Formats: sequence, C-alpha cells, structure tokens
Amino acid sequence: MITAPDIDSLFKLIKEAKYLVTLTGAGVSTLSGIRDFRGKNGLYNEIDAEKIFSLEYFEKDPSLYYNQAGSFIYNINEKEPSIVHNVLGKLEQQGYLKALITQNIDLLHQKGGCKNVIEIHGSPTSHYCLRCAGVNVSFEEAAAIVRKGEMPKCKCGRVLKPAITFFGEGLPANALKQAVTESQQADLMLILGTSLTVFPAASMPEHTLRNSGKLVIVNNQPTPLDRKALMCFEDLGAVFEGLDKLLG
Ligand SMILES: [Zn+2]
Repeated sequence: MITAPDIDSLFKLIKEAKYLVTLTGAGVSTLSGIRDFRGKNGLYNEIDAEKIFSLEYFEKDPSLYYNQAGSFIYNINEKEPSIVHNVLGKLEQQGYLKALITQNIDLLHQKGGCKNVIEIHGSPTSHYCLRCAGVNVSFEEAAAIVRKGEMPKCKCGRVLKPAITFFGEGLPANALKQAVTESQQADLMLILGTSLTVFPAASMPEHTLRNSGKLVIVNNQPTPLDRKALMCFEDLGAVFEGLDKLLG
C-alpha cells in the first residue's frame, strides 16, 4: 500500500537529483498490454523463443521469426504508451530525466515522448542484411510487409533481420557503452518494472551505487537490490499516477 507522503518524497528526490537516469524492463510494457516474456502468463510459455530469436536458426530459416513475431512485434504500433511512458516523457521534457536505459523493444518510450532512449537489447526500428549493406528497412516498412504475410528482403535477395538482439548475438556495443556511462553518472536511478535478473541490464544499478548514486525501485516482485535501494515501491501504475499529479 503506497501512501501519499511516499510519492511526495520520491518526487522531492527526483527534483533534487542532478543526474536522473531510468532503467526499465518488461513490467513497464505490460501496462500497455504488451505481454511479458518470462512472467507467469509470459510468451515464453507459448512460443519457442529460443528458436524464434536464435541467430543460428534465423540464418537457416527466417520465416519462423516472421510468422510468429507478426503477432507480438509487428503490431506494437497499435499499442499506446502507459502512464509510466508518458510521465517519463514529461520528466525528460521538463529537464529532470537525463537518460533512459531500456530492455524493452517495443518503442513505447519514444511514443511516450522520451528522446534519449538507450535500447540495450536492440530495437525493431531497423532491419538490415546480415550479408551486405544493401538496404535498411524501418519498422513501419517491415510491419507493412509482414502484415501481407511476406518478409522484408535485401537487394541481394536475403531476408532482413530486425536489429533486435537475438540469442547468439552480442548486445549492441554502443548502446551498452552509453548505458554504462549514464549509469555511472547518475546520482539517482529509477529502476522500473524489472526484477534485475538479466545481465548486463542488472549490473547498471551497480555502476550507480559504486559512484555513490541512489536507487529507487518500483517492481511488483522483490529484486536482489531492494535492500540497497533508498525506496522500494510495488505498484508502477499507482506511483506514476501520483507523480503525474505532482508534475502537473
Ligand atoms: Zn544484402
């Protein structure tokens, strides 16, 4: 149960922070009706994610990815940002939020108005050829092709791969480097909707702690860093509705 003074103190922390950074995970997206991969009703129970998002398999047969992902990646343009995405957008626009690091690949932070979004698990915003630099296709272009039951292709004939990080691939090096730098710089990190179990995302708060930054965690499950956090909340929706009122 969250009481009003808690949100007041959180808002005070946010206002007083010199360098606020946020780390977000799947819990933020489920508020927008996007299904979690690992949760109780997670997609992993229904789909063979290991195969769909396997680089090795994709190189052999990309149709599995495109057939399956049609229903949970190429329809994300129909999803609306939640109160969390929108308030984070406001916090950035009002100068409080300096950078947002996300494990999500649903582009909803951008839709919620955030500009400095670091996508450490890649992004479906672009689709590229694993063999040549022939073409680069945007999310919208790819989604239109996928909706017709086809696959986006390169000039060389090869099926394009989304720039989402697949199993067997390294995380995008630039994004990762940027995420570490921002985490080190943060004097306050808001950790939202992630249980801090997937590395290297889970190591970002450690960089903040090491530089004497503070952590605030909002997650519906305990995380390994709860006892090192200044404040912990459970209900993302309630916390952000409260912040929204205070932000005006
Ligand atoms: Zn090509």
